[in-house]
Amino acid sequence: MQEFNQETKDQIRKATLNIKRAKEDSLKRVGLSEAEYKKKIQEMRRRGLNNVEASLEEARENFEKNGVILHEAGNEESAREIIKNLLTDSKKIVKSKTNTGHEIELEKVTKDFECSETDLGDFVADLMKEDGIHYVLPALHIKSGEIAKKIQEKFGDEIDDDPEKITRYLCDIIRKNILEADTGITGANFFTKNGEIILLENEGNISLVSRLPQKHIVVCGINKLIENASDAIELSRAAAIFGTGQFCPQYVSVISGPSKTADISSHLVEGAQGAREVHLVLIDGGRTELMKNDFYRDLNACIGCGACLNFCPSFNELGKEYGGKSVGIKGMISDYLKMVNQEKNLSQQELDSRRSLSDLRADGNDSKLAKNFFKCILCGTCTENCPMGIDLSGMSRKIREELNKKGKGLPETQKMLETIEKYGNPFGEKKKTDKPDKLYCC
Ligand code: SF4
Ligand code: SF4
Repeated sequence: MQEFNQETKDQIRKATLNIKRAKEDSLKRVGLSEAEYKKKIQEMRRRGLNNVEASLEEARENFEKNGVILHEAGNEESAREIIKNLLTDSKKIVKSKTNTGHEIELEKVTKDFECSETDLGDFVADLMKEDGIHYVLPALHIKSGEIAKKIQEKFGDEIDDDPEKITRYLCDIIRKNILEADTGITGANFFTKNGEIILLENEGNISLVSRLPQKHIVVCGINKLIENASDAIELSRAAAIFGTGQFCPQYVSVISGPSKTADISSHLVEGAQGAREVHLVLIDGGRTELMKNDFYRDLNACIGCGACLNFCPSFNELGKEYGGKSVGIKGMISDYLKMVNQEKNLSQQELDSRRSLSDLRADGNDSKLAKNFFKCILCGTCTENCPMGIDLSGMSRKIREELNKKGKGLPETQKMLETIEKYGNPFGEKKKTDKPDKLYCC
């Protein structure tokens, strides 16, 4: 495991500073102030989520017309089951980075197959047996010298630590894997009411994964629904500007079904040079429930840009330790809400048995998730940077309040609350002249 030392932190800070400068330049090219641009894209995104049931129905009908085979999963487990069945005949799988795949723990299915990553950062993270550290820059914390060493160890090739040479070397391996694969798995950035799947990328791997293997499986949350493909282009630009500072991603693909041709005797044949089958696995995973929740509903508008991580001081200090199942405050909030939701349906006995099983459960001082909420310094930088205006910082504060109320906060906070309750101040029974034993900060 890579040490998260000062050098790594400096590397991350340097990258985020570059993103900040690039973002300012890109916003100038858009010709709107940051506030005006955010307003525009937020309206666009929320338009897609209004009246979601009717829009989903329209999307279902259009996917069918377009030849996309739709599968709907209520939860992570059923999504994995669907994908497992789709992979029955697969021999070699390639996949691209997918946050929804991460959410459903896709690796529990793909581990039984020959399956490789095609996003360079994720490929490197896999090679180094590391978890990705960032939504869009997963290998940000790994130094090129370490990768060069690993290449020699794994593939027997000596290579110096020049990032360009390493990139070329690894991209050749990835391309070969894609060419040999019969199944490609990708996420989706958006899907539209017209039955289109939108994918954005820089490396070109997603275009290849979605076209070269005969079967393309798309894994996507129902909240990725937007009005139409032209909104998708603008929202893709927004994700690039706020996530990496780029003016637009290198590629935006709009897929509306399997490849086809009618060039021979006007006879329509599905499966030309692109995929022959396109399967869309749409996952609810608590999103419908979230839409009913006035305070947290906005999370469904997330476009996965990673801007909430970029300038978060807690992430910059702690790296991937600062998170739940996925890194950062957005992942922590999603995990927490999912857990609370699941627990509503559990008996006390089941709740007790879960306490010892899951490190995600907010059950007090040994819970990673609960502890991490108290490592958030509530500075509001994530909220300020989120293009969708999601009040992540406010949500973090509310969850801390809930944890405290449930007696699952940090011992110091619990003690302070009990003392306030008892004496009306955080210091206990003191005379005006006494010095407090301990100073607390909220
Ligand atoms: S409020 Fe918390 S999560 Fe948001 S940027 Fe500040 S420390 Fe990070
Ligand atoms: S919460 Fe906001 S900043 Fe974070 S990934 Fe989603 S859209 Fe981007």
